[in-house]
Amino acid sequence: MADEPILNKWPSAFCQNPSMPERAAYESIWFPPGFVKAHCDPKSLVRGLPLPETLQVPICPEHITHTITSELGALTRDLAHHYKVASFTTILTDQGQLFFGMPRNHAHPNCYGHSVECATGIAVTSGNHSFPLVVTYEKDTSRPPFDGLVLERLAEHFVPGCDRRMKLLHVSDVSETLYDHNALLPFPHGGASRPNVSPRHSSAHKKLDFNLSADDVCLLNIERNALRAIGRELRAIVHNSSADGETRPGRKRHAACVFTADGDAYFGVNLRADVRAADRCAEWNALSAALVGGDKERIAGVMVYSPDYEEGSVCCCGKCLNSLGDFIDPNIGDMMIAYMGRTSIDALKLYTEVKNTSYGEAEGRSLRR
Ligand SMILES: [Zn+2]
Repeated sequence: MADEPILNKWPSAFCQNPSMPERAAYESIWFPPGFVKAHCDPKSLVRGLPLPETLQVPICPEHITHTITSELGALTRDLAHHYKVASFTTILTDQGQLFFGMPRNHAHPNCYGHSVECATGIAVTSGNHSFPLVVTYEKDTSRPPFDGLVLERLAEHFVPGCDRRMKLLHVSDVSETLYDHNALLPFPHGGASRPNVSPRHSSAHKKLDFNLSADDVCLLNIERNALRAIGRELRAIVHNSSADGETRPGRKRHAACVFTADGDAYFGVNLRADVRAADRCAEWNALSAALVGGDKERIAGVMVYSPDYEEGSVCCCGKCLNSLGDFIDPNIGDMMIAYMGRTSIDALKLYTEVKNTSYGEAEGRSLRR
């Protein structure tokens, strides 16, 4: 079921009725009760869901209708309830795809992540950069729905030619409020120049053909073919981000894969922003995909691809190591970290070996360019 297009499963009654009746008439048709449970398995959420054809693809915020905001608000609320999370985000991209995110909690506040950031990482890794609509559910209605950092993150994702506009819908259990991004943050620091990326259609989740036991992980016993397969994917997706080495001079290309013992692979690319605090590392984004994919407790390793560093100096930053530490499976007890330079695997280590190293040391060395 996971690989079947969701669209085919949608009720034909809806698809035959493009005139969009009032909500009372169709609310049980589009995302009817039970839809989420029946059709939205976590891995299909990571891969993204398409909007129904009958809605057309809304490429600009002006094309976002009440029907779309109302239905995606209801879907987002249902998903938050289904996954029992206090915050949940649905992003609609200009390619008509829906991507989803949950918050990343962490004991250290610097490693916390908003559900918007999680969804953004998955969308961008999948080759979707421009968002006409972002829907966020917050259980706690006393909190402002979108903080300044989140708004700066989203400022990097305006639809080209739409005058830096974006619709933001905040939903709770009792309310729905629609905002314009530029009303909440009239003068964003970021997003003035669109990243000159060449995104490829990709997916932040793939099923690969390997299995690892706890002993395999702790003895670093993984087939080179499995690492090569991950490496091929990482090389392919690095062009999906503004960290392509061209758009933001001086910032390095970087992509990451978080994989489980059963061969579920989650990918992430670097998210760069004019406001650097809104940057998100590739590892962090790959972890976000694993979280949405329901595999946060089965992680066996991570592989990072960083072709701009000298061979042997590729590593994870301290913040990512901190976040990765949260995901060590107690039944395994450690995590593999594979480092891939421009052409090959530089090193394969255990998390416990490297947790005290970071780019702080590597930054002191000369970069390849
Ligand atoms: Zn990092």
